Amino acid sequence: MARYTGAVCRLCRREGQKLFLKGERCYSDKCSIGIRGYAPGQHGQGRKKSSEYGLQLRAKQTARRFYGVQENQFRHYFEVAERKQGVTGDNLLRILESRLDNVVYRVGFASSRAEARQLVGHGHFEVNGSRVDIASYLLKAGDVVSVCEKARGTEKMKAVIEANGAKPVPQWIDVDRDKLEAKVINLPTREQIEAPVEEQLIVEFYSR
Ligand code: SF4
Repeated sequence: MARYTGAVCRLCRREGQKLFLKGERCYSDKCSIGIRGYAPGQHGQGRKKSSEYGLQLRAKQTARRFYGVQENQFRHYFEVAERKQGVTGDNLLRILESRLDNVVYRVGFASSRAEARQLVGHGHFEVNGSRVDIASYLLKAGDVVSVCEKARGTEKMKAVIEANGAKPVPQWIDVDRDKLEAKVINLPTREQIEAPVEEQLIVEFYSR
């Protein structure tokens, strides 16, 4: 699948906020948002006023980039969210949060969602005891994600776990750092999701 391979800090600058795409660097004074907090490109420091459509588009792009999802898949998630009972925006966020790469990142088994995707793709994680190497795998309440036996001893995995050991974990996931496993207690409510996403604008964007 096509992936964005450019400089990820440009994405944060484009959206005008931190999207935490680079792990540790995002929490340091090297973060580009602190250094050049304006949009990239020749006209980056120019006109700021956006149309209604512009705001909706930016809201959609922000969410897509925050979760590292391509346009087609994002639209697919929206269509699924629309068909489910309840509030479409909340459903969409819940789907995005339930992705395996997101959960791996949220519990500190990876420094960023991009790294989580890579580690999952390399087969370093199991769900309910079976290896899953699909980053977009959607978890359900009760699912247990664990670092697979072979990966536990690798230097890479040890360094990642050590670097992210103190990271706060969302209430809807129960993590056991000794066993290197995390259980999804329930899928999150909107209040439990920390994300720079204005879901109502996304709903408006796709409802045009
Ligand atoms: Fe975004 Fe992180 Fe780059 Fe800062 S360091 S601009 S938060 S990706």
